[in-house]
Amino acid sequence: MEKKIAKVVVDRELCIGAAPCVVVAPKVFQLDNENKAVVVDQHGADDDTILLAAQSCPVQAISLFDEEGNQIYP
Ligand code: SF4
Repeated sequence: MEKKIAKVVVDRELCIGAAPCVVVAPKVFQLDNENKAVVVDQHGADDDTILLAAQSCPVQAISLFDEEGNQIYP
């Protein structure tokens, strides 16, 4: 990916707590007590890993934005 990930957002309405994001990037995503993912550290993994985590989400609840605020994923 060419663009740098500046912002990681989890849509909690969409999140079903399936947790592959947590498995792929545990320093970025954690499940809270509602069993929904929260972003604990936007820079807890490199961009490729964060992208992989977003792609691993079965409901595409993870959105990624670059420094200009453009949506990179999905
Ligand atoms: S992979 Fe998607 S649905 Fe599963 S916990 Fe992460 S954000 Fe939620």
